[in-house]
Amino acid sequence: MTGPAVDPAESWAHLMRGNARFTAGAQMHPRSRPERRLALLGSQREPRAAVLGCCDSRVPPELVFDQGLGDIFTVRSAGTVLDDVVLGSLEFAVSVLRVPLVVVLGHDGCGAIGIAREVARGEATASGHLAAIVAGIAPAAAAAPPGEAAEVQAVAVVDAIVAQCPPIAAAVAARRVAVIGATYSLETGEVREVSPRP
Ligand SMILES: [Zn+2]
Repeated sequence: MTGPAVDPAESWAHLMRGNARFTAGAQMHPRSRPERRLALLGSQREPRAAVLGCCDSRVPPELVFDQGLGDIFTVRSAGTVLDDVVLGSLEFAVSVLRVPLVVVLGHDGCGAIGIAREVARGEATASGHLAAIVAGIAPAAAAAPPGEAAEVQAVAVVDAIVAQCPPIAAAVAARRVAVIGATYSLETGEVREVSPRP
């Protein structure tokens, strides 16, 4: 399988153009018609980016970036918390699909971070599998002011991905891939980069 012809900066610029359409209410809903569906029958070809987003129903990556079929390799977990399956999915995107960009997309008003904050303060306990989500929220994010928590969590997840995935770290070192953090504003719909591309 050949890699995509775009580099990390081009991929990010492409996503941001889509987000600009989304925030303006000028979505194109590109590459979502039947002919596109049929064109991807053999393989998903080469998505332009992998996005690790939160499960929050208000932040679907394909919509906020105005993308279509085959465009984004999407992984979602509450709070963008990492586990082996999430990391394996991102390694697949980088090593097999050859995406040039991995975006960790947090957002304000995140419920997972909110629960972690309450647990950190001793105001709540997390039972069952919710405990795994709380454990995956960076302590610094749980302690950060509400307006900064999403950014702190996104940056922490970016660092953890690179630290825990040697194939991704190697691709970053070779400048074939960038892993960046971003946050989404529920109010404006705008996505903002919060960690510099290496
Ligand atoms: Zn969330």
